[in-house]
Amino acid sequence: MPKTAPFYSVNEASKPAEKRVHHDNSACATGREIPVNERRSGTNGYRLCLDCKERDDKGQ
Ligand SMILES: [Zn+2]
Repeated sequence: MPKTAPFYSVNEASKPAEKRVHHDNSACATGREIPVNERRSGTNGYRLCLDCKERDDKGQ
């Protein structure tokens, strides 16, 4: 199940540009901490979260 449609937190906008990330893995701990009401779908041009990338690469 884990790989999912890309999403990001509305709070990414308050971080420095190089730290903004999006998530695309439902098992990602950071992504799971984002409350549903703060999630937006898509990448918003942000890079992929490293935890999501590792999970995607391992097929988790
Ligand atoms: Zn993530």
